[in-house]
Amino acid sequence: MSYDPTNIFAKILKGELPCHKVYEDETALVMMDIFPQSRGHTLVIPRAASRNLLDADPAALAEVIPLVQRVAKAVQTATKADGLRLAQFNEAPAGQTVFHLHFHIIPAYEGIALGAHAAGRADDGELAQLAKDIAAAL
Ligand code: 5GP
Repeated sequence: MSYDPTNIFAKILKGELPCHKVYEDETALVMMDIFPQSRGHTLVIPRAASRNLLDADPAALAEVIPLVQRVAKAVQTATKADGLRLAQFNEAPAGQTVFHLHFHIIPAYEGIALGAHAAGRADDGELAQLAKDIAAAL
């Protein structure tokens, strides 16, 4: 399957749609997931166009993974999570719903089960505050 440049993350990367932005540079955009599986669920979206891991340019992957680590540490600091799950889905049967490569950083809290994937929408005020807190910890 080929990359569709009209996907929602491509539009967010181009600034055509809004997001709760944490950080951006020439490599990637970091934003809050609006249907979070836990408080602080953050997405790292490489600018390089690919559907997912399978068609990604290895050079683009090499550039973005250090940022994924940096953001994971900032999410941990800002949320005081007890653990973090890193997730990345490839094609719909595996759970992928947006077909532009992205990495999920999902905080885990002792005794609290993770929510469903891409389900309940979070409060915009809370997402804006989390984006600020994570940005401050970067
Ligand atoms: P996937 O299932 O493709 O790995 O993950 C897509 C993620 O994007 C889901 O976790 C979903 O909650 C999130 N998502 C879907 N639409 C939007 C949107 O418009 N803005 C943001 N920030 N996240 C979105």
